[in-house]
Amino acid sequence: MEAKVNSTTISLVRGDITLEETDAIVNAANSALAGGGGVDGAIHRAGGPAIMEECGKIGGCPTGSAVITTGGNLKASFVIHTVGPIYRGGSYGEPGLLKSAYASSLSLAIKKGLKSISFPSISTGVYGYPIEEASTIAVSTVIEFVRQNEGLDLVRFVLFSERDLAAYSGALRKNLQSPSP
Ligand code: ADP
Repeated sequence: MEAKVNSTTISLVRGDITLEETDAIVNAANSALAGGGGVDGAIHRAGGPAIMEECGKIGGCPTGSAVITTGGNLKASFVIHTVGPIYRGGSYGEPGLLKSAYASSLSLAIKKGLKSISFPSISTGVYGYPIEEASTIAVSTVIEFVRQNEGLDLVRFVLFSERDLAAYSGALRKNLQSPSP
């Protein structure tokens, strides 16, 4: 599924984010930037040790923020590492922190002059964020951002499962029909 908002194409695909050819791919990292399982492990495996070397120098990243490293051996030139919240029921600031993880990544991409960026579904794996809520926040944050900021040609969500793709497609359709305030 694809939609155009101002000059930015928003695209939803099912796939493996490590294969993406956008300027940057986003990693759902932990705050120590220490590597881990899930998409984090896959990105470090595919990109090679240069990524962890830079992560070590940066040292860490607070929840809701983002940092950038080389893409190492990946097709993407850069990896933007962001840290989503661990879901603890939803009343511990999780929605704001998830929104901030997406917005910080997008801001960093623009600051670096990048034109295209791919996101995984941040926080919905080991961090336990319910997919319906997380996809609504992810999609509305990206749409709000590209309405307010020029520079990105393509923002892509690369979803690992059919179920995740369906949730994001539903969220995008809903947002385009009745934009959130
Ligand atoms: P978090 O700790 O933020 O929840 P996870 O890596 O556990 O991060 O999961 C985030 C999402 O990334 C999950 O939906 C998971 O299925 C997905 N994922 C795992 N590997 C990949 C991959 N290679 N490409 C895209 N998405 C992936």
